[in-house]
Amino acid sequence: MTRLRELLAVDPGSFRLDKTDPRGTPGLPDTKAVRKDPKAWARAEVTTIGTELAAYQEKLFAAAKRGRTAERVLLLLQAMDCGGKDGTVRGVFAGMNPTGIKAVSFGPPTDEEKQHDFLWRIDRALPPAGHVGVFNRSHYEDVLVVRVHNLVPEDIWSQRYDQINQFEAVQAEAGLTLVKVMLHISPDEQRQRLLDRLDDPAKHWKYNPGDVDERAKWADYQEAYQAALTRCSTPENPWFVVPADRKWYRNWAVATLLRDAMASIDPGYPPAEFDVEAERQRLLPAASTSDSHGS
Ligand code: AMP
Ligand code: MG
Repeated sequence: MTRLRELLAVDPGSFRLDKTDPRGTPGLPDTKAVRKDPKAWARAEVTTIGTELAAYQEKLFAAAKRGRTAERVLLLLQAMDCGGKDGTVRGVFAGMNPTGIKAVSFGPPTDEEKQHDFLWRIDRALPPAGHVGVFNRSHYEDVLVVRVHNLVPEDIWSQRYDQINQFEAVQAEAGLTLVKVMLHISPDEQRQRLLDRLDDPAKHWKYNPGDVDERAKWADYQEAYQAALTRCSTPENPWFVVPADRKWYRNWAVATLLRDAMASIDPGYPPAEFDVEAERQRLLPAASTSDSHGS
């Protein structure tokens, strides 16, 4: 396990989001290559990690296909608007096999979803055995946007922290390795990214005037994040806060956290359920006739 996990994990007793620098780069190795060009180093490293992720993913998929494991992995991403959730998914999952990946985004609950408890749609969207899932937003919105906008009464949302912890504990028992990441950006960086979207007609589809209204509630959101991060960071399912103003650091950190999680459950390739040597003999020509080939 790398030191990065320990550096970025939320300790419920001492963590302070307002003391966490969105431009920080904790855990970057102190080597000549990094000092020379951290951005280039991180990009190359993410490509290397991507190859490792693809190999772990294939082994997980193969093991589950043989019914040998119930393990599955879920990368859960939360962030303020423009926090880089989509960019992280593109950057980190680039090398992986789309067949084994399940990506889900959560918006305001639909009419059908509103007929159920807040975890219903989450449960249904979890990756099956052998799969790697990614959540763009999650059940944490039900203690974030919901809390900030009083979408349900406080006596309802205040119970959700414990309900979330219980839900995640049950899923862990059932083989889910959850990697919960908050991408932490500064208000200045968000403003710059919103302006960039306005400046580029190809990015206008990403611009949501509502994001500027949400931006006015920055302090309320940070308070809601502080509560969610500390109340729902458990030894089994810790939260990680990744400084995200620098995209290259963000991608490297998330890729590393995911790689470490997958390494810890590495099931190995499933052994053959047939006699490999016997199969080889069936395919190779018999010794007496082999001379007649290939000359
Ligand atoms: P986007 O990620 O830009 O597509 O926006 C999705 C929107 O859905 C965000 O404004 C979220 O705050 C909102 N959203 C997600 N989950 C919930 C929820 N459980 N209740 C209300 N709004 C939500
Ligand atoms: Mg948005």
